[in-house]
Amino acid sequence: MAGLSNLTLHETADRLARGECTSEDLVRDLVAAIEQRDGKVGAYVWVNVEDALARAREADAARLGGDRRPLLGIPLAVKDVLNVKDQPCACGSRILKGYVSPYDATAIARLREQGAVFLGRTNMDEFAMGSTTENSALGVTRNPWDLARVPGGSSGGSAAAVAAGEALAALGTDTGGSVRQPASFCGCVGLKPSYGRVSRFGLTAYASSLDQIGPMTRDVRDAAMLLQAMAGRDPRDSSSVEIPVPDYSASLRNDLNGMKLGLPREYFIAGTDPEVERAVRAAVEQCRALGAEFVEISLPHTPYAIATYYVVATAEASANLARFDGVRYGARVEGEDPIDMYGKTRAAGFGREVKRRIILGTYVLSSGYYDAYYLRAQKVRTLIRGDFEKAFAGCDAILTPVVPTPAYRIGEKADDPLQMYLGDIFTVTANLAGICGLSVPCGFAGAGLPVGLQILGPAFKEENILRVGYAYEQSTEWHLRKPNLES
Ligand code: GLN
Repeated sequence: MAGLSNLTLHETADRLARGECTSEDLVRDLVAAIEQRDGKVGAYVWVNVEDALARAREADAARLGGDRRPLLGIPLAVKDVLNVKDQPCACGSRILKGYVSPYDATAIARLREQGAVFLGRTNMDEFAMGSTTENSALGVTRNPWDLARVPGGSSGGSAAAVAAGEALAALGTDTGGSVRQPASFCGCVGLKPSYGRVSRFGLTAYASSLDQIGPMTRDVRDAAMLLQAMAGRDPRDSSSVEIPVPDYSASLRNDLNGMKLGLPREYFIAGTDPEVERAVRAAVEQCRALGAEFVEISLPHTPYAIATYYVVATAEASANLARFDGVRYGARVEGEDPIDMYGKTRAAGFGREVKRRIILGTYVLSSGYYDAYYLRAQKVRTLIRGDFEKAFAGCDAILTPVVPTPAYRIGEKADDPLQMYLGDIFTVTANLAGICGLSVPCGFAGAGLPVGLQILGPAFKEENILRVGYAYEQSTEWHLRKPNLES
């Protein structure tokens, strides 16, 4: 059985339903692909071969017994920040090495209820802090399109696994772009749901007012399918919202008739790579040809978004990461007394970027600086949200680039955190505003590096961005290209 590892989820489900393959075949094909390629790519930090095979065989038996659940026996890869019962969850960090999850995150439990099998854990920047996956304590992940380049981050392992044919689909998390940006760098589809759409119970928190879990897939239909399974109110995450979940696949159509799309002046700026801009502008024309009407809009507070994000995110991170002190979770370095033990454990357990952010976050929250930094950032955040509210009064979705550049070289920005932060300019605004966003492949820059189109939608209007993404994707072939990993 060859080639199953490059299918989409919906193709896989169809083949399984028609009896053309079994879940066991699928797991075996994926494991073979991982064995063949992951030495080069480094997408996974842990693979669950025996248990995945056992669960696949159970699913095959259930299917023969008439079980028709949409994800029955379909293997998924999961970013190493989400708890899956009895699997490791190191969050890319030394401090959680050896930690095994005692429970399923709600998003995982919901996928499991639909029959999904959890094949393995993907690499990430430590505690989801980064844009390249270089901040992982568990190894290097390479971009399948060019192994000298970063896959993006922080969900770089998930994006690389999907792009390399080592996973049918994966889960990532997006606090400031970590689903959309690696999807853009690796040529897959990435969806950041609206704040409150998917429960974060069981997601190791980075910045709680920004974090969302999202699917990373080969096409838009698959993203709709996974969102459908995960979305909805969960009493265990009080920020999840009681808004009914629509039938997302029903919103997928082949045209954009009647859709009004906004182009924000502030997102088409000097500093964006000309090839990225060209690809995004061509995508705009394609959407026009599909029937969309365009309006120019303004999101005037965009220039403040990076500073605002890095104050809010680090402040929340400094509080969230206080729990890793050697008492309950993961590694401990003994000390003379508890305070000494906390200090030694955290000094040895956290990497440089995480320490930098804890220090920054502690600083902006400290007395005397709180008003100048944290409170001010919260006020600017309100202005950014207001920009989007005004814009969405006049359009159904907004088109922008995902990242100003294609994937850069491993090491290129590793010693220049500020340069790396600036690359988040087009993605952090959606998290600050709580709206939803989708990254869809829209072309390649000269050297064969994927470029993504970002489609932003109003809060709880995922159906809008899925519709735009689907119509665009189905009228192009960018999402069908595969990297060559044979040589
Ligand atoms: N690159 C951003 C950061 O480092 C976003 C990360 C994320 O979305 N988890 O914070």
